[in-house]
Amino acid sequence: MLKKTVRDIEVEGEKVLVRVDFNVPLNTNTGVISDDSRIRASLPTIQYLVDHKAKIILCSHFGRPKGKIVEQLRMAPIARHLSQLIGLPVDIMPDCVGKDIRNKVETLKEKDIMFLENVRFHPEEEANDPHFARELANLADVYVNDAFGTAHRTHASTVGVTKYLPAVAGLLMEKELEIMGNLLHDPGHPFACVIGGAKVSDKMGLLQNMLKRIDLLLVGGGMAATFLKAQGYGVGCSLVEEDKLSLSQLLLQEAAEWNVPLLLPTDVVVVEGKIETGALTRIAPTTNIPTNSCIVDIGPQTIELFCNELRRCRTIIWNGPMGVYETPEFSRGTRSLASFISTLNATTVIGGGSSAEVVQEMGLTDKMTHVSTGGGASLRFFEGAVLPGVEALQNRAS
Ligand code: ADP
Ligand code: MG
Repeated sequence: MLKKTVRDIEVEGEKVLVRVDFNVPLNTNTGVISDDSRIRASLPTIQYLVDHKAKIILCSHFGRPKGKIVEQLRMAPIARHLSQLIGLPVDIMPDCVGKDIRNKVETLKEKDIMFLENVRFHPEEEANDPHFARELANLADVYVNDAFGTAHRTHASTVGVTKYLPAVAGLLMEKELEIMGNLLHDPGHPFACVIGGAKVSDKMGLLQNMLKRIDLLLVGGGMAATFLKAQGYGVGCSLVEEDKLSLSQLLLQEAAEWNVPLLLPTDVVVVEGKIETGALTRIAPTTNIPTNSCIVDIGPQTIELFCNELRRCRTIIWNGPMGVYETPEFSRGTRSLASFISTLNATTVIGGGSSAEVVQEMGLTDKMTHVSTGGGASLRFFEGAVLPGVEALQNRAS
């Protein structure tokens, strides 16, 4: 990897500020974390620092407190969960900067773990305020960024702080960048991209960057409606991004120019009127979608078509659900695809928050090559964008 990692520096006895992304789904009433994969994903970095006798200062954001203290968004339940997972005490701080925290840091011993309060309680975090960044930096001797999920943000704790401290990647950050970087630069072929989710506009950048690298593009989810309409099909009352129709046409053209088959659903699950639990579903061929119906999922024929195409692939990226998967009746396409992809002997990478959630919830994470911890960040990565949080880290001497 181009960037230095925590393995490339001396950490023994050093105060190490570690930016993690522990922005997990937490029920603030019950205190239950429904998916702790982001916490687990950073355990190797934290364990490495413990094993190498560092003094560990963790920091993360949680939710969207918008620069104010929000009691429900304190780090404490998350820090306690970490403590259980790693089997070590984690000292929870009431703030992330200030005199008390500075004093506390000076009392840290080797292998101690301290967890700073939600960095987004301070408006200076998202504003990437240099004074705030410097205050954070002053707590430590070195900085490790393990927050891949926040690497597309230019914030004080992801970018600002690197101006004042030697800055390297954590082991999760390294893993994310290596696996996904390989897909950009040296993928096994045939290489398929399965794209779904709500909107074409969210995924257009990814599609345009990936077209030249892949051999096959499968499109489902809400965005399929826009593509279908761009091809002249009626899509009933499905959500269509009218202002993206010409861009979709252009993409269909580009796919043809790159010789990349772009497959759209041949049949879909539709509901009449409102998309809600208990709504009566019907299967309609794409050529004949009733005008009073909305697409909520890909149909059985499409599931079979997509699976048959994927069977021969050596590399698969999947980003975005095939339907409104939050409603069980509309989740069959997404779930079938997840199950099928998990059985393949291929490099399988899941990006996108919703797709990752489905895979996690179905217990298939270990059967995939990699499930990214960064929805937005992985999207930006596959768009070919430079992630500011990565860019800011030190390069290895070449
Ligand atoms: P990801 O987080 O995996 O990148 P997105 O955020 O792009 O995925 O999209 C997820 C959302 O797309 C889900 O909330 C899902 O309900 C919605 N969606 C999928 N298919 C449809 C559809 N046919 N109509 C409306 N919404 C859809
Ligand atoms: Mg999403």
